[in-house]
Amino acid sequence: MPVNYASNAELTAADRDRILAKAAAFAPPDNVLADGRRDLVGLSREQLAEEVAAIGEKPFRAKQLWHWMYHQGVTDFAAMSSIARPLQEKLAEHFVVSRPEVSVDQRSKDQTRKFLFKFRDNEAVETVYIPDPVEDRGAVCISSQVGCTLSCRFCHTGTQRLARNLSSAEIVGQFMAARDAYGEWPSPKGETPRLLSTIVLMGMGEPLYNYENVAQAMKIVMDGEGIGLSRRRITLSTSGVVPMMDRAGEELGVNLAVSLHAVRDDLRDELVPLNRKYPIKELIAACRRYPAASNARRITFEYVMLDGINDSETDARALVYLIAGLPAKVNLIPFNPWPGSTYKTSSPAAIKKFAEIVMAAGYSSPIRTPRGQDILAACGQLKSNEEPRRRAG
Ligand code: SF4
Repeated sequence: MPVNYASNAELTAADRDRILAKAAAFAPPDNVLADGRRDLVGLSREQLAEEVAAIGEKPFRAKQLWHWMYHQGVTDFAAMSSIARPLQEKLAEHFVVSRPEVSVDQRSKDQTRKFLFKFRDNEAVETVYIPDPVEDRGAVCISSQVGCTLSCRFCHTGTQRLARNLSSAEIVGQFMAARDAYGEWPSPKGETPRLLSTIVLMGMGEPLYNYENVAQAMKIVMDGEGIGLSRRRITLSTSGVVPMMDRAGEELGVNLAVSLHAVRDDLRDELVPLNRKYPIKELIAACRRYPAASNARRITFEYVMLDGINDSETDARALVYLIAGLPAKVNLIPFNPWPGSTYKTSSPAAIKKFAEIVMAAGYSSPIRTPRGQDILAACGQLKSNEEPRRRAG
């Protein structure tokens, strides 16, 4: 009897279904207050129209609400001046427009600012604003999950079990709350400079393990009648969830960053255990297929520099060989130790030599300057530090 082998495409599709099913098992709670009012933040345009229709109002009200929420940044229906008072009151009876609660707000000497945002069920995540040291702009580093399942060896968040996925409201809410802190409303139009000018999905969690919520949040952020942030200003960072990379590229078209950290499977298996499932060859193949990659929009490879582990000249040459022909840049990240971590950061000389080899091959290889060193800079540290206090409190 002929053996019926599944094709690669079938395997990928099956894997994708498995990932989405697992994401659903860690779904966030419904975005409804104890008094029954629904939070309108995080709904797609269609879902918002459905909510408005459910209270007997016309579809154009959804458009008005979208403008007030995402362009003006208003959270109080009474301040929505294009809506008559009786309808403002009716909206307030059924709905809220909320933000996560600011549980901690720390500002570093270098102006990096770290928030711990708390949600209705008391789960919390970190969001970091990293201003450009020279110009009036900056990146907001956003979390996608409470904790993480992936246990990357050098990562502090990897030591925290996955509690649950974040909802689209909680993902977009982090960016909106950070903009509240800087008063950056209404949303600047077109080329008008923005203080919070880019989003990097590089905080706690693996965004491609919470794809649906991340995608919905990013579609809200990119909507031209609201926050209006261009897809070129959004970077999704993955540790290599290969089956979801194509989908993210096709549907969102945002920039891609890949946590590479090693160029040999035996080492990457150890540093980024997901590599055992999706090894380097498959990961690089997915990068080569990534639709949004071009010379103007290069794929960023993140490479944490670990003393004596992955920082040799041979590693640098192997890296260059691996990414040959890809529109790419390599971010070299001096390791940021945290209590209990077993690694040390590479010496400045080793990092410099590594960068030179990558650069000589024609790739930009900036060495990331550590930011916010005085405020528990390693991702996940603020949350861990707050945890005992929260439990005691
Ligand atoms: S590096 Fe990212 S994917 Fe890996 S454990 Fe940390 S948060 Fe999770």
